[in-house]
Amino acid sequence: MGTVGVGRRIIGFARDEDDDWVALLDCGHRQHVRHRPPWTNRPWVVNAAGRAAHLGHTLCCVDCADHNADERENQ
Ligand SMILES: [Zn+2]
Repeated sequence: MGTVGVGRRIIGFARDEDDDWVALLDCGHRQHVRHRPPWTNRPWVVNAAGRAAHLGHTLCCVDCADHNADERENQ
């Protein structure tokens, strides 16, 4: 199966200590949204208009997926 993210909405953006962009999700988790061509192409994240356009968009939260997996194992 592998890790499947849980769809969460982007409610804001911040930068980490390495100046990489991080999306703040409505579940309270943070998800990196790096722009590292050619591996990860997110040219929109490096400008304010692009980030504003992605507010409210859904991102797969790996932290939530891990949390759900833990809950299933504990049942
Ligand atoms: Zn989450």
